[in-house]
Amino acid sequence: MLDNRPQLPPEIARRRTFAIIAHPDAGKTTLTEKFLLFGGAIQMAGQVRAKGEARRTRSDFMKMEQDRGISVSASAMSFDFGPYRFNLVDTPGHSDFSEDTYRTLTAVDAAIMVIDGAKGVESQTRKLFEVCRLRDLPILTFCNKMDREARDTFEIIDEIQENLAIDVVPASWPIGSGRDFIGTYDLLNDRLELMDRADRNRVAESVKIEGLDDPALGRHIPADALAKLRDEIEMARELLPAFDRKSFLEGHMTPIWFGSAINSFGVKELMQGIGEYGPQPQPQSAAERQIAPEEDRVAGFVFKVQANMDPKHRDRVAFVRLASGHFERGMKLLHVRSKKPMAVSNPVLFLAADRELAEEAWAGDIIGIPNHGQLRIGDALTEGEALRFTGIPSFAPELLQTVRAGDPMKAKHLEKALMQFAEEGAAKVFRPMIGSGFIVGVVGALQFDVLASRIEQEYGLPVRFEPSQFTSARWLSGPKDAVEKFAATNKQHMASDNDGDLVYLTRLQWDIDRVQRDQPELKLTATKEMM
Ligand code: GDP
Repeated sequence: MLDNRPQLPPEIARRRTFAIIAHPDAGKTTLTEKFLLFGGAIQMAGQVRAKGEARRTRSDFMKMEQDRGISVSASAMSFDFGPYRFNLVDTPGHSDFSEDTYRTLTAVDAAIMVIDGAKGVESQTRKLFEVCRLRDLPILTFCNKMDREARDTFEIIDEIQENLAIDVVPASWPIGSGRDFIGTYDLLNDRLELMDRADRNRVAESVKIEGLDDPALGRHIPADALAKLRDEIEMARELLPAFDRKSFLEGHMTPIWFGSAINSFGVKELMQGIGEYGPQPQPQSAAERQIAPEEDRVAGFVFKVQANMDPKHRDRVAFVRLASGHFERGMKLLHVRSKKPMAVSNPVLFLAADRELAEEAWAGDIIGIPNHGQLRIGDALTEGEALRFTGIPSFAPELLQTVRAGDPMKAKHLEKALMQFAEEGAAKVFRPMIGSGFIVGVVGALQFDVLASRIEQEYGLPVRFEPSQFTSARWLSGPKDAVEKFAATNKQHMASDNDGDLVYLTRLQWDIDRVQRDQPELKLTATKEMM
């Protein structure tokens, strides 16, 4: 994947843009925090979020989303680690699956999969992994919570191999387990890493070792644990494949590190791994051609829109993944969808909790562009070329509900809130041609609760979601006359979306089939192209 590509300019070559995928509670937040700590972006662990030790429940999540302080500004974080610039893009943290997650993964070149050493591969891990696989994203695995009773190392590796059909190569090997866990043997660098249980923010002591026969090992590891380590590694070398960077970059093999995020253990080795083996910014696909990162001209695409980052200003920030070139603040870029130039004068880079003005950015970086709603998900920004990036998927809304404001006088407010969420891509919003109210379409049921909670929080508007008489939505297109005629004779089934495009609502697949059969000139589609 990398081998036959031209050498990248050093500023681009040092960038690593990735996301963390994990089942809730596996330790994604803790790991993120330690990344930022070692990346010098925060001074003290615990700054990212003060969630407490409570298990995350549904209401915890709602509360978290409501005080949107950090979960929002942490959408994309940049920090340096050694010679590398890391761009960590946050995947939405809740357990319900949303389009947001898919889109986020279109903006990265690699993913870190965090699993809990006691629980192994969990349902959400698997789902997220499948999304990564669709894009052949290289995956690095971090097996967390090794300070607690964990499963047998071979069992964990087997489970990943079998469940996810990917080769697993140990980059480190745990020594002891649970209370007797003392550290890992770093197989890539022949080093012994010893965990310090006393100080959670201290980095492990690292002992250089000349292979597994080095007598120095005996000074740090109890005899029985050492014998076990030697046996296991011998067996691992026999049974498991050797690390093959090409296979890793193609998404067929994942290196696994064992550690404990909360004890800052194994985290630096993992970061080192991303830097050394992780992919450089990769080419991005557009309908017209591939965009290579080293191209001189700037091109990028919006993969996420976040509104209300600052409740006092109703601003929006569009997150743009730069696909190519060297961006400088103040540049005029072409907004391809509207064919209008756009001066990008106040782009932001997200350094942990702070927003900073981005003076420059390179291919691979994520910049935030404040705007008043012009920038939509999927939009391209270029130095003149009319590109259409193709990676951003659009999903069919699978669940429909009617939403009403608690106070009928507030319908206008509700409309405004809904339009905003539609632009963010958080939901599809349909206004029926006949009758009042709005119909909201989402992919996962929890999204209704999240929306209700956000509308109340951000707009001070209590709302009710109720079952809709419709269960399916189809965008209608075709020759203008035919579309208009169809809409006029099916008014009770017609609605318009937030762009004013026509949508056919029904509860019967039979209706949809009939339209397609009787009026082949009309097209009914379950998703709307972003462009
Ligand atoms: P997330 O839901 O994936 O973001 O997980 P969190 O980072 O919030 O962690 C979930 C829980 O596991 C929290 O209570 C953490 O303190 C705890 N935790 C995280 N890492 C470790 C670890 O290495 N060892 C132990 N014992 N607990 C951990």
